[in-house]
Amino acid sequence: MRAQASVLHLDLDAFFAAVEQRDKPSLRGKPVVVGGVGGRGVVATASYEARRFGVRSAMTTREARSRCPHAAFLTGRFHAYREASAIVMGLLREASPLVEPLSLDEAFVDLAAADLPDLEVATVSAYAETLRARVHEATGGLTASVGIGTSKFIAKVASDLDKPDGLVVVAPGTERELLRPMNVTVIPGVGPATGERLRRAGIVTVADLEAVDLDELVRLVGKAHGAGLHALARAQDDRAVVADREAKSVSSESTFDTDLTDRSLMEHLLTRQAGEVATRLSKHGLSGRTVTIKVRMHDFTTLSRSTTLPSPTDSAPTVARLARRLLADLDTSGGVRLLGVGVSGLADWVQEDLFGETLGEALGEALGEAGDGAETAPEVELPDLSRVRDRSGWWPGADVVHDELGRGWVWGAGRGVVTVRFETAETPAGPVRSFAHDDPALHPWQKPVEDEPEEP
Ligand SMILES: [Mg+2]
Repeated sequence: MRAQASVLHLDLDAFFAAVEQRDKPSLRGKPVVVGGVGGRGVVATASYEARRFGVRSAMTTREARSRCPHAAFLTGRFHAYREASAIVMGLLREASPLVEPLSLDEAFVDLAAADLPDLEVATVSAYAETLRARVHEATGGLTASVGIGTSKFIAKVASDLDKPDGLVVVAPGTERELLRPMNVTVIPGVGPATGERLRRAGIVTVADLEAVDLDELVRLVGKAHGAGLHALARAQDDRAVVADREAKSVSSESTFDTDLTDRSLMEHLLTRQAGEVATRLSKHGLSGRTVTIKVRMHDFTTLSRSTTLPSPTDSAPTVARLARRLLADLDTSGGVRLLGVGVSGLADWVQEDLFGETLGEALGEALGEAGDGAETAPEVELPDLSRVRDRSGWWPGADVVHDELGRGWVWGAGRGVVTVRFETAETPAGPVRSFAHDDPALHPWQKPVEDEPEEP
């Protein structure tokens, strides 16, 4: 814990949904759910309008549909999220050389390394407001919540206190007072299982936890965990903001706007990614022992598979061979939205993943078919969304362009029909039209981005 509040945590609000609302004017102020729309899909992000109906991240899409049937359910456009994220991370890196991204929409910034006259509460507060305004402007209207405190723990807790679009600075010396009434699950590492074990011992709040001595805690939750909890209950957290997380592994990944189903194409892409990774490794004189692949399925389930070699490698053929072998063990027949290859010593690359592999795996299992019927819409009859995975690739939310009507996005598709709303971030809410799914005037639209793969 530092003497001054110099750790900043920035978290974009309802990030994926906010990007969709920015780019789709007709959805502004409306419930939007981004995630897997298929039978096994889970919610990645819900807009605040959808949260009012009880829709939450990691909930099954099926459950979300039953709670908020009138929401727009979109598959998500990772190129747009990555682009917005890069803008925000760039702004943060201008603020301080010490920026530690946690995911696309979240990062720690060490203000002690920033160019500030001092680290008084008033100074860091004013600075954070400027930063939030810059993020809003540079991203075309996204909002960020910011927390500042004397440690990572406190900064992260603080950014959550006034969401969305809020700023909370926890003054040095007030941390324990802030934490005491909170549930113990506010502490990093206290998940449902530990939370339940503590609750059975009568420990519900941080204040309860603070009153338990170290020996008792170790007896309850084990040695390693007990010591950590004992410290965090007292707001003791000395973890540094680490800027070079990315350097711990070298990886290459590609997101696809249509599901890939062709196995030989996937192998070809993995081979190419392995080549890129190997080139970067050797360029920096690095090598690694662990080869990991990351695969995001059509329903947003994200899987990773790793294998560890007896000695480090930077060989493209070796990485490619191992990557292809790892892919061979996965069932990709439902289609793949993202493929990646990484080489690491620490194998922490996949843990950066936005959704977390455990989330997808745990929730993906339990789900049956969606089958909640088609959504109803004000202007037109929306086709059956359960068929969005058809080979035509018209998935809900995708960017398209029509030869005469210009740019828009797929509102729904199925039964040979695709329905498009013609609007972009720069236009007012636009009209809806339906087409045959093979209408030659209608094409997928994708902003050219450097690191996107060519369309297969
Ligand atoms: Mg966020």
